[in-house]
Amino acid sequence: MILLFQMCICFGQDLGAQKRIVIDAGHGGIDSGALARNGAQEKDIVLNVAQEVLRLNSSLKEPHLIFLTRYSDTLISLGDRTRLAMALDADLFLSLHCNHAKNHRARGVEVFAYRYPFKYSKTAVWMAYQLQNQFKKQLGFESRGVKFANFQVLRDTAKQCPALLLELGFLSNADENSFLSSKENATRIALIILNILETY
Ligand SMILES: [Zn+2]
Repeated sequence: MILLFQMCICFGQDLGAQKRIVIDAGHGGIDSGALARNGAQEKDIVLNVAQEVLRLNSSLKEPHLIFLTRYSDTLISLGDRTRLAMALDADLFLSLHCNHAKNHRARGVEVFAYRYPFKYSKTAVWMAYQLQNQFKKQLGFESRGVKFANFQVLRDTAKQCPALLLELGFLSNADENSFLSSKENATRIALIILNILETY
């Protein structure tokens, strides 16, 4: 982590001027997260999206400083994910997940913010609504609402910066699973995320 930080300084990036964004690709390694009937795994879908955000960001004229909590198929503890955000003095923490339900008709995107209000809560909720709106408008996803939860990754980062957990859709729903499993759609999702980061 310290090495990563030093590398940024060595490569001449001004850490003070750019927003530091931590994208947390949920699960990884032996923790596959939700599984679809066709074998698609949550850990792969969210990593693809996170890597697309990184790739698209690098082609921007003024890229953000984006860090992923994992760059490959490895399992990182929840504590290490949030410690990274704190060590980097992150300006935003966004955790990516996919949903799963017994009811195969359950569908849509939901965004979670931390249950208890902190300095950054209003911004987090505002961004959560922006994400929902854009997923609906641009990709036709149903909005399941902005919700509040006491998830560890939110609890540990909400004091530091706006912290959000995005459930990208249901792997238990055949339509959404096939949508999320497409590489092209990972790019479309990543673009929405990047556009929201632009407005922050
Ligand atoms: Zn998950």
